[in-house]
Amino acid sequence: MTDVVRIPFSEHGITEKQICKKARTILKALTKAGYEAYLVGGAVRDLLLDKQPKDFDIATNAHPEQIKQVLPSTRIIGRRFRLAHVHFGRDYLEVATFRAPHNKSDKGQVSNDGRIIHDNVYGTVAEDAVRRDFTINALFYDLKTGDVLDFVGGMKDIEARQLRLIGDPDVRYREDPVRMLRGIRFMAKLDFSLEPQTEAPICEMSGLLSQIAPARLFDETLKLFHSGQGLMTLDLLRQYNLFSCLFPLAEQSFIDDKTKQFDTLVRAALANTDKRIRSGKPVTPAFLFAVMLWHQVQQGSKFYRDSGNPDLQSVHLAASDALGLQVKSIAIPRRFSNVTREIWTMQGRFQFKACRRSINFTNNKRFRAAYDFMCLRAVSGEPLQDDCEWWTLFQEVDADEQLEMCNKAKGSPRRNRSGRRRRK
Ligand code: ATP
Ligand code: MG
Repeated sequence: MTDVVRIPFSEHGITEKQICKKARTILKALTKAGYEAYLVGGAVRDLLLDKQPKDFDIATNAHPEQIKQVLPSTRIIGRRFRLAHVHFGRDYLEVATFRAPHNKSDKGQVSNDGRIIHDNVYGTVAEDAVRRDFTINALFYDLKTGDVLDFVGGMKDIEARQLRLIGDPDVRYREDPVRMLRGIRFMAKLDFSLEPQTEAPICEMSGLLSQIAPARLFDETLKLFHSGQGLMTLDLLRQYNLFSCLFPLAEQSFIDDKTKQFDTLVRAALANTDKRIRSGKPVTPAFLFAVMLWHQVQQGSKFYRDSGNPDLQSVHLAASDALGLQVKSIAIPRRFSNVTREIWTMQGRFQFKACRRSINFTNNKRFRAAYDFMCLRAVSGEPLQDDCEWWTLFQEVDADEQLEMCNKAKGSPRRNRSGRRRRK
C-alpha cells in the first residue's frame, strides 16, 4: 500500500473557513454517516498556493447510492463512471467515489495502445490518489482532523513549484494523452515548471493527441485559451509540439507567413482575450477560431477570387474549407463555428460607408465581434488602420455627426450586379 504522510494545519495553513460552505456541509454529512470524505484535487492545490479555487471537488468511499441516502438532493449522473452531483438549488458540487487505477481490474480497461477506456472500478483513498494525474492534484484535505493527506509527495512538489506525473510518465501519457495538455495548462496557470522526467516524453508523444475525441479537445482547448494565460499557453504548446495537434492549419500559417502578420494577429488577439478574462468580461470561442484560421481563410479566399468567384462567395468557400479541416482535430459546436464564419464574411462590409448601410451594420448582432476582429487585423499590419479609426469614431458620435461622416466618406467601392467589385 502507498504510505500516507499526514500534514498538520501548522504546516499547510488551510482553515475550515477557506472551504466553501456547501463543501463543508457535504464533508460533514458524509463523515457523520460513517464514510470517509475529503476535499481533493484543484481546490486543495489552489488553497495551498493561496489562490481562490474554481470549484470544490469531494472524494469519498461512499458509493453514489449511499451518497444519495445521506444527501437526498443528490443526482447521479454518467454511465461510464457514475458521479454524484449534490444540489443546492441550481448549484451543485461534484462528489466522486474513490476509484482504483485501471489495472486493478482485468475487464479490458485499457486499449491496445495503452489508452484508458473504462475507469470505473471503486477503490480506496490511496488508490484514488495514484490514479490522478499530477502529484499536486492528488492531495486530500481531511476536514475532521484538519490534516492534508499526501500519498505521492505532492506537498514537496508544491513547494518546489513543479508538475510531476504520478508513476511512469510514458505509461501515464499513453493512458491519457490529454495529460500533456493539462501539464501545459497548469504550467501557465500556476507558473510551475515540469519536472524533467514529466517533461521529457512530451514532444515525442504529442502525436498521441490524434486519438482523442475532437469534442474533448474542444473542451480542453477552451480551458487552455480562456484561462487568462492564453498567450503564454500558445508559446508553451508550440514549444512542446502540441499546438500543431490542436491547430494544424494555424501551425502551418505560423510557418508560411513570412510577414509575421499572422503571428502579430494571434498574439494581439490572445493578449486582448487574457485582459478581458482577467477583468471579468465575456469571451467567445468563435473569436479564437476566427483568429487561428484567418491566414488560411485569406489564402483560400484569394484562390477562389482568382478562380472567378465573387468576393463574398470566395470567403464562404474558404471558410468551409478551413472549418472542415479544423473540426477533424477540434469539434467546434455549430453555434460557434457559425459565428466564426460571420466574423469572416462581415470583414468585407467595413469598406462600405454609405449612411443607411453603416447604421444597419452597427446594429447587426455580430457587429462588435467583426469590428474587434477588423481592428486586430489593422494592428497586425493589414492596411485597415483608417477603417478601424473611422468605425471607432462612427460608434461614438451622434446621429448628425454620423451623417456627416458618411457624406464625407469617399471611395466606398460600388458594386456591379454580380456583387463583384468593379475593377479600377
Ligand atoms: P482546475 O482548477 O483547472 O479545475 P483541477 O485540478 O481541479 O484544475 P479538473 O479538471 O477539475 O482539474 O480535475 C479535478 C481533478 O481530477 C484533478 O485535480 C486530478 O486529480 C483529477 N484529474 C482530472 N483529469 C485527469 C486526468 N486526465 N487523469 C488523471 N487525473 C485527472
Ligand atoms: Mg477543478
